[in-house]
Formats: sequence, C-alpha cells, structure tokens
Amino acid sequence: MSSAIHQLHLLCPITYTLLSLVEMTQNTEKKTDRRHFLKVSSIGTASLAAGGLLGPTTYAGGKPQAATSAALHPTETKLELLFLGTGAANWPKTYPPVNQKLTRGQVRGTSSMLINGHILIDCGYTVVDVMKRYDVNPAGITDILLTHTHADHLHEASILKIANSRDADLGPLKFWGDPEALKKVPDSDRIEKRPVVIGQTFSIDGLGITGLESNHHVADSKEQCMIYLIEGATRSVLYATDGSWLLANTWNTLRKKRLDAIIWDATCGEGAGDPRIFSHNDMSMIRHMNHSLVKGKVLKPDAKIILTHIARKLQPPHAEMEQTLLPEGLIPAYDGMSVVLS
Ligand SMILES: [Zn+2]
Ligand SMILES: [Zn+2]
Repeated sequence: MSSAIHQLHLLCPITYTLLSLVEMTQNTEKKTDRRHFLKVSSIGTASLAAGGLLGPTTYAGGKPQAATSAALHPTETKLELLFLGTGAANWPKTYPPVNQKLTRGQVRGTSSMLINGHILIDCGYTVVDVMKRYDVNPAGITDILLTHTHADHLHEASILKIANSRDADLGPLKFWGDPEALKKVPDSDRIEKRPVVIGQTFSIDGLGITGLESNHHVADSKEQCMIYLIEGATRSVLYATDGSWLLANTWNTLRKKRLDAIIWDATCGEGAGDPRIFSHNDMSMIRHMNHSLVKGKVLKPDAKIILTHIARKLQPPHAEMEQTLLPEGLIPAYDGMSVVLS
C-alpha cells in the first residue's frame, strides 16, 4: 500500500501548494465566506483528446436520439463544484440552523454536490437546509442528477421544495436518473423526468454528462445505481458515490478519459473487516484505485482526489482526516467546500 501512496506523492507535487493555500483561506464565518474555494485554474494545461470525449448517443426529452453537437463537444470551460453535503446516512437527519457556528466537518449533510451553480447531484433530506447556509438559491437549480434512491440521496419533500421554488415561466425542473429510480421521484407538472441510459452522454448547458454503473444496491428496486462523469471543454470530473470499487464496464469507459478530479465514496475508514465494503469504499480500496488510475493515466498528474460520503463513526474527526490524508494528496471534503476547475 505504501508504494501506492508514494507514487501519488511523486505525481502530485502541486497539490500540496494548493492545499496550503486552502488552509490559509478557510473558515471565516462571514456568511458569503462559508464557501471555501480550492482554485486550480493556474494548474495543468492538458486538454482532452476530442476523439475519446463522449459516447455515441445522447438522451434528451426522455427518448434516445442521435448525439447532438452539444453533447459531443462540451463548450463550458468552467467546472465549479460546491459540496452541499458530505456525509453518509448515519449523521443527524436535521441540519443545524444557519446562525449556529460550525467548524469544518463538524456536521455533514447527506451527500450532494452542486455543479456550476445550477446542476445538483442528489437531493437528500438535508440539502435544502445546507443550501440556506451556503447561500444557494433553490430557485436557481435547473437539473438534478440522481445516483440512486436511498433516502440520503432522494427525498421527496426536498425535491418538491426545489421544483416549486422555480419560476414557472422557466419550465419544469429536469430530473435525470435510471428509469426505475425515476418511478420514486414525485410526479408534478413542475418536474420533468429524463431517463439516463448507462454510457450514453447527454448535454446540460455546455457540459457532457454520462451515467456509469456503480457497485451499489437498493433493496427491492430494479434500478441500476450510477455515478456520473461530467465533462467540460477542457476539464472533467467523476462523481463516484455511492458505490465500492469501479465496475469493469465503468472502467472501460473511464480508461479513455483524463480526469481533473475524482470524488470517491469514502464511507468506511482505515479499519479492516467492515462488511459495508461490498457497497462502499474503505481507504485501502481508494488507494488501490488511485494507483491504478494514475498508472492508466486516467487521473491527470495534478488531479484532485476528493473524499465524500464520510461515515460518522467509521472515519475519524475531520481535523484528524486532514492531518493524515492531505499529505497523501487525499482531500476529505466538507460541507461548503468549493473546488474550481477552470
Ligand atoms: Zn448514501
Ligand atoms: Zn446508497
């Protein structure tokens, strides 16, 4: 295992400078400063090879159709990621009020991430309250990408709150997910359900989005849990929670890609023997996969490796995670953390 860590060190020398910068700029409690920015705009100049960018077809309006130019050639140059929840399902179900001072990672909402201010991945029971704390207006959400229907990722009341807060003139909230999973999304004229087919890329506002198979399971559901590849003109990120390892199909798509960031399911900690590793990662699995992704050149040398879906009791307190993991090039996410890839 130590060789994997060592290789990552060698390959990510710039990461440490960045992390120091983050440390210095974090944790003011002025409202608009609660978001903490990890900017990487000055790092890396590699661009993606056009031929390997996206799959052959795309979905729009619920029906398969030929690839659009927008899906095949993403135009958006910015990827701004805002973590609106970084916890597994064993954190308190109620989020603290906005005026309560919090340190990083002291509480974690249900795992969720906002892309470019308007595309939300997953919508669990805390997400609307976390939005309030980090000054995100639910009315600005245009699209929700669903990974799967566990309650910490899909919460009917939160979805309806977001959908109903939109100006009706702007049209319905678009809700993307596995066709079986979409059956659990509330029916409303303010919500337009759009099925996602594994491996087929669709376009949202200049980004190419691809759902990929995840090794995760929802009891009594036929849905295929998925993770999402998000590709812009020059930057790309894999949002890989919930799930353990990467399935062969998913690897076959990823091996042609070059990622600027990967966001791992890091539910389980360093301890061995926890049966949850069959649907969530522990740290040794993450290190193994990082090693392979670096060796396969899927992770760019300056890629950001970020951990989310952190369990309350399986991982140590956040400060301790930072102390042990940051020097390794692993970034434990916390609610309100922002990563800008541009
Ligand atoms: Zn979960
Ligand atoms: Zn789950």
